[in-house]
Amino acid sequence: MSFTKEDCLKFVKENDVRFIRLQFTDITGNMKNIAVMDKQLDSAFEKGVMFDGSAVAGFSGIESSDMFLFPDPATFSLIPWRPQQGKVARIICDVKNHDGSQFEGDPRYILKRTLKKTKDLGYTFQVGPECEFFMFYNDDEGQPTTITHDSASYCDLAPIDQGENTRREMCMVLEELGFDIEASHHESAAGQHEIDFKYTDALTAADNIMTFKMVVKIIAQRNGLHATFMPKPLPNVNGSGMHINMSLTQNGVNLFKGEKGSNDISETAKHFAAGLLKHIKGITGIANPLVNSYKRLKPGFEAPVHIAWSHMNRSPLLRVPAPRGEGTRLELRSPDPACNPYLTLALVLEAGLDGLHKRLPLADPVNTNIYTLTAEQEKELGLERLPSNLLFALEEMKKDPLIRSTLGVHTFNKYLAAKALEWEAYDNSIHAWEVEKYLKSY
Ligand code: GLU
Ligand code: MG
Ligand code: MG
Repeated sequence: MSFTKEDCLKFVKENDVRFIRLQFTDITGNMKNIAVMDKQLDSAFEKGVMFDGSAVAGFSGIESSDMFLFPDPATFSLIPWRPQQGKVARIICDVKNHDGSQFEGDPRYILKRTLKKTKDLGYTFQVGPECEFFMFYNDDEGQPTTITHDSASYCDLAPIDQGENTRREMCMVLEELGFDIEASHHESAAGQHEIDFKYTDALTAADNIMTFKMVVKIIAQRNGLHATFMPKPLPNVNGSGMHINMSLTQNGVNLFKGEKGSNDISETAKHFAAGLLKHIKGITGIANPLVNSYKRLKPGFEAPVHIAWSHMNRSPLLRVPAPRGEGTRLELRSPDPACNPYLTLALVLEAGLDGLHKRLPLADPVNTNIYTLTAEQEKELGLERLPSNLLFALEEMKKDPLIRSTLGVHTFNKYLAAKALEWEAYDNSIHAWEVEKYLKSY
């Protein structure tokens, strides 16, 4: 259902909805909300709802801190797990400055700005994300542990898969929220799961990712578990990725599909892919935003390390999954679910469009298991690597002008400043590994 303002007001009145949560996302990818009562909704649409922008990561300074949320009626939905008497709904919002102008640091606006360009070119950017996550036990005080709630592996069934019932509940709640769930399964690591929903236009996909994370966490909590999108919570097993499947369509036709009967992808897809490979180093600081993100990007765990593409091979950064025809798509495998999806999708799209615009040539595919290449082989193939830690990734962000122009100066600067502090805090701390390794030997 895609509601207008009038639809929302009518629904609220007729269905005993008492609270409306106005949601938005800060630059670090965390969802925020303010609840208004049903009587306030009309005014929220007309005048917005004020909040303190200086208390939100990456938003305004204290000197111009009054900011306003304007609900986007198309995102209205009921929150199924809240009481059915005096119901609760949510609406995702756009953020404006106190003078009514668009706040240029709103991540949702940054994606919309890029999508407008795409629309003017006659394209629609279609996105299908695959979010992985872990579920862990809580301790006696209710604090999350890293003890997994099962010992199952890829596609296992109950009783080893202990997540079956929780995953089922997540899928049903997501459907109530309007998601088109395609598949769900136990992932490779113990306690790790994946739920995939159908591709949509990119703005809906980013909104959906935010809603998805909220639902997964809440439903896990209701089942006595802690769900986390931390990219690499455990050493020596797979981390959690958020693969992005993408294609461009024009008048409903997939522009990535190759000639009929051929296994090849179109020239458009190849240029788009070349743009992604060209800009991926700069994108990584956004798509892999945490110090911990880089612990996932190591050889041997189905996460990419090298900047390369292939058809079926799961070791490089970019893959062309088996479906052809209208199902033809590129799968970018580096992003993780801790990223801000609005910013990540905006950058990925701009990178692809740059490849298209400049008709960049695509390098040959790498069809071998890239993890086992020697340094010489890597050199021979001219393969480059993704940045290996957050600090290097931030350096790469600064080097690529496309990142700055896509994010806008405000967000670019705020993000770099916040992440530089995060790196510094990590770098200043003494980790358990260091104490264990060095304390006795030196
Ligand atoms: N969990 C892997 C990652 O970190 C991906 C596994 C898969 O191919 O689904 O990206
Ligand atoms: Mg997976
Ligand atoms: Mg995948």
